[in-house]
Amino acid sequence: MTTTLLKVKGVKVAYGGIQAVKGVDFEVHEGELVSLIGSNGAGKTTTMKAIAGTLPINAGDIEYLGKSIRGQGPWDLVKQGLAMVPEGRGIFTRMTIVENLLMGAYIRSDKAGIASDMERVFTIFPRLRERKDQLAGTMSGGEQQMLAMGRALMSRPKVLLLDEPSMGLSPIMVDKIFEVVKEVHGQGVTILLVEQNASRALSIADRGYVMDSGQITMSGPARAMLDDPKVRAAYLGE
Ligand code: ATP
Repeated sequence: MTTTLLKVKGVKVAYGGIQAVKGVDFEVHEGELVSLIGSNGAGKTTTMKAIAGTLPINAGDIEYLGKSIRGQGPWDLVKQGLAMVPEGRGIFTRMTIVENLLMGAYIRSDKAGIASDMERVFTIFPRLRERKDQLAGTMSGGEQQMLAMGRALMSRPKVLLLDEPSMGLSPIMVDKIFEVVKEVHGQGVTILLVEQNASRALSIADRGYVMDSGQITMSGPARAMLDDPKVRAAYLGE
């Protein structure tokens, strides 16, 4: 039986008088990697922020593990296993790698568990181990993205919300980031991935949703979407 971890139901989000998300429905099941793709300004980031509790919704509901989380803030949600890696990373530039990772574990007090999770993060991202005492602000964009993901993993999330992890990175770093997303998913973390890079995002996903002008316009198994001429023409640059 599949467990629905996240259920987004008729969600609307506005910035002042502008409705950016106009009634969106989708689900993420336990163990899945779901990609949300679509053009610039479609409302993907706004949807993600609403789920993570950093933007209020003005209609609909969001359920996590079968219960409404509407109105809950990001701190409460992280404690329940819902962690977001925001677009632009949001790392603490004047703190070291290790200090940033420890910030990700702020909700926990199990020292041994935190140490073993840091080891796990260093195994996934050897680059972070090499630079563990370096100030985060002095790292490259790709390294900062790795750190942001590592920091989110330190909260032991059930669901990881990843907003545009490949944005602004060199092609080699983009490859590395997608590899790592796949690896983290392979370790049992459920992932909702927002990406401009639609073909890469669908190629590692189980299912996909297309968002356009604040609404979901297509959905299906990722493989079928990759083969769909309409998706290919509109979002895969063909
Ligand atoms: P992108 O990939 O370009 O980030 P997106 O699909 O993530 O696009 P959003 O960032 O969610 O899109 O933006 C959806 C709409 O909301 C856009 O029209 C955008 O201009 C608008 N918007 C986003 N943030 C704000 C804000 N803080 N204030 C006002 N309007 C906003």
